[in-house]
Amino acid sequence: MNKLQYSSELSKCVRCGACKSFCPTYLSALDETLGARGRIALLGALTENKLPPTKELSDRIFSCILCEACKDLCPTGINISEAIYQGRTDLKNYYRRGRLLRTAMKLSLPRMDSLFVVLKGFYKSLYPFLYKRGKLRYLPDIAPKPFKGSLQVYKCEKRVGRVALFVGCSVNYLFPYLGDALLHILISKGYEVVILKGEVCCGAPMRSLGLEQEAVTLAQKNIRIFNKMRVESILSLCPTCTMVIKNQYPLFAGGAIEKIMDVNEFFVKNNIYSGLKSIRKVVTYHDPCHLCYGLNIKDEPREILRGIGGIEFVEMQNAEECCGFGGFFSLNFKELSKDIGKKKMKIIHKTGADTLVTSCPGCIMQLEDIKRDTGSDITIMHIIEVLAEAMG
Ligand code: SF4
Ligand code: SF4
Repeated sequence: MNKLQYSSELSKCVRCGACKSFCPTYLSALDETLGARGRIALLGALTENKLPPTKELSDRIFSCILCEACKDLCPTGINISEAIYQGRTDLKNYYRRGRLLRTAMKLSLPRMDSLFVVLKGFYKSLYPFLYKRGKLRYLPDIAPKPFKGSLQVYKCEKRVGRVALFVGCSVNYLFPYLGDALLHILISKGYEVVILKGEVCCGAPMRSLGLEQEAVTLAQKNIRIFNKMRVESILSLCPTCTMVIKNQYPLFAGGAIEKIMDVNEFFVKNNIYSGLKSIRKVVTYHDPCHLCYGLNIKDEPREILRGIGGIEFVEMQNAEECCGFGGFFSLNFKELSKDIGKKKMKIIHKTGADTLVTSCPGCIMQLEDIKRDTGSDITIMHIIEVLAEAMG
């Protein structure tokens, strides 16, 4: 979007408020400036020079979770999250809370594996101390080694298809066991799996910090290497990566990776969850925002869970309500993030389920943190772990 398009987009707002109906930051803080309509009004005033760029204004724009709950709600067709990305690019130098993260991300993204070594050291030394004092939020154990190595091709007997994985940073560095579970399922079902070493971050963290050009560089590298692959689908366990690649790459990076797909969609399309062994659990499901609002995938995970024998599925109230994670939002707006997460946990407990299933590594991180805060004993699993367990 160029400057002219951006300001004309913002000027379309008629202040109806439809966009704030499900806005988690507004519903939690009940503050107009922390809601979708307020943010669009502030950005409009900024582009018309009615408001100066300030730290306070940038805080309002960076407090958006980028959850997409306001997507498609605007009667005049404003793409609210794209307007917020543009606002962040313009305001990033006024956003003080993000300074350290911006520098760290710029320095580390070209060499994520070196950052991983530094993170592992930090996790063992300083992290427990800072976590106990409430300075930092819960982080899962850093993996002993990243999931991705050199180019990996996993062959199988009686091949029925060939897929690639878009691993994503969270699975690569924090949840490699989710990648292992996915590999196990795909190979046992006859899929040859390719994992590319050249994959880089999808760019979502960069965009969220207002580093648009850096996100473009990363996206274009992914587009280049993944579009060369001869596979039927490119699967991801992270709805944020999938949504950004599918919906946003065409808008900001001038291209797309057509074959990217969320694992739930792939499993239902290819009937991969049938004929599994029975497992006894009372399960409820939390819809990750980027999967339900961003990709419109709601039925598939339920179909999978209901299709596994022994699972008693209990629907929670408003399952698509955000858990409050939002990547860097959970670090920079800790209290707001925790308030939203605690509200979610209360709803989860009302179902009486013993297991909470979701499809997003980020939601798992957030809900594990809230679980510790609230003394909950619920088991939290990614849907891929449930499937792997039912496969034996
Ligand atoms: S993306 Fe989510 S948090 Fe941001 S304005 Fe829209 S609904 Fe609110
Ligand atoms: S829904 Fe659209 S027109 Fe209505 S307040 Fe939100 S941005 Fe403005």
